[in-house]
Amino acid sequence: MEEADIGLIGLGVMGENLALNIADNGYKVAVYNRTADKVDAFLANAGDLKSNVMGSGELATFISMLKRPRSVIIMVKAGDPVDQVIAELKPLLEEGDVIIDAGNANYHDTVRRFSELDGTGIGFLGIGVSGGEEGARHGPSIMVGGSEAQWKNAEAVLTAISAKFNGEACCAYLGTGGAGHFVKTIHNGIEYADMQMIAEIYGIMRDGLGMSPEDCAKVFKEWDKGPLDSYLIEITGHVLDAVDDESGKPLVEVILDAAGQKGTGRWSAIEALNLGVSATTIEGAVAARSISAMKGERVRGEEIYGAGVKGNATISLEALEKALLAGKIAAYAQGFAVMAKASEENGWNLPLATIAKIWRAGCIIRSRFLDQISQAFDSGGAANLLTQPAFIDMMKDSNGALRAVVATCAINELPAPCLSSALAYFDAYRQARGTTNLTQGQRDFFGAHGFKRLDKDGDFHHTWPSLIG
Ligand code: NAP
Repeated sequence: MEEADIGLIGLGVMGENLALNIADNGYKVAVYNRTADKVDAFLANAGDLKSNVMGSGELATFISMLKRPRSVIIMVKAGDPVDQVIAELKPLLEEGDVIIDAGNANYHDTVRRFSELDGTGIGFLGIGVSGGEEGARHGPSIMVGGSEAQWKNAEAVLTAISAKFNGEACCAYLGTGGAGHFVKTIHNGIEYADMQMIAEIYGIMRDGLGMSPEDCAKVFKEWDKGPLDSYLIEITGHVLDAVDDESGKPLVEVILDAAGQKGTGRWSAIEALNLGVSATTIEGAVAARSISAMKGERVRGEEIYGAGVKGNATISLEALEKALLAGKIAAYAQGFAVMAKASEENGWNLPLATIAKIWRAGCIIRSRFLDQISQAFDSGGAANLLTQPAFIDMMKDSNGALRAVVATCAINELPAPCLSSALAYFDAYRQARGTTNLTQGQRDFFGAHGFKRLDKDGDFHHTWPSLIG
């Protein structure tokens, strides 16, 4: 009976495809799902992979199918369902077995789950899996956190099913505790910023330059051959030239302009704020999704203030391409800076070059750009991309275009929260003499917070005039 190399709980979109991927790679996988019918359907539809899949709608039977020490992947809805599944699994597992949470967990939950399993002898790994449905089926990017010894139990299977970039597996052990889920969270934060900046550029093309979706699609397809070459730019071209079967119109014109969010972008922004690291592009992207969801208020806002100027922008497509590259550099610089700081605070020793490497294929933000980032971190230097030689050259070449695009947006009444925050970050990052000297003076005035001086060491306080009376 004990013949499966690994077990998987949760036959949703991701779980089902991950199980097929495992079977496809020659490993035997046992599956379980809360709604038992899905197990029957999965086994019935396994086709050529039939000999590598087994399963049961009964949890104890499912566990009895696994080779010891057992490795069980949980791929269910994030949050309480994960705790419920762990509680059901605990009495059925024994010392040496490992539970692997592969969902999009908040890393604080992962840390808590580690401590709750502490002393039971049952191991735990928190792994981030990126790539959506297709990635899960044909090779996702996998970010592993937990004990390195327990990772060894599942390493062969997870490495085999991951995406490959030039033959290198996009799967790596990144650090203890919640490191894997933290890195996945920041991956999603960067993804939010990347997508939002692309949407802002599309907005300039549509409303500023009066371009049709078809024409925009052509431009994005062209850009996919240059420095912006990435999965997100590629799918943007396809989304923009898709036609709606029902209306015959470009599909993008009938899609409601209101986005949902499941939490990872917001968590990224919250973690950055808690760590005291500037991640304004991620914050801008989260805020953009929030305002997108206020469709009714935006309609009312346009009635009150007018729609803004349409079709009057004068900006070249070349400037838009370069601006997107500059914005992207700022967003990735911020995301990696957040990870570097979290690594320091949590003692993770996160391998930044490896993270960039395992994001080169399989995941949603995969791109040529990530290969350049991995090379930059591989050659050492500071954690902020803006001080890495290859990116210094790119930023010097492209920040002028970002400036021109943000100015165009301001003049033409086009919102560009992410691109403009990328520019503001860049300008603040390279301003040796900032303006918080004034802020420090104000803080000392009303709260006696003190300040430091440029010309001597120590803490100082000024005797300010009283404004009372
Ligand atoms: P999904 O299609 O909505 O499937 C949810 C699964 O969770 C189903 O198998 C469901 O079982 C199970 N479930 C829900 N509540 C449960 C509970 N209380 N106890 C036991 N099982 C429960 O979800 P998904 O899209 O595959 O996502 C799974 C995880 O992967 C999530 O953490 C998600 O954030 C993450 N993720 C998703 C994507 C993506 O592109 N979809 C990408 C990366 C990561 P029933 O069939 O019984 O309802």
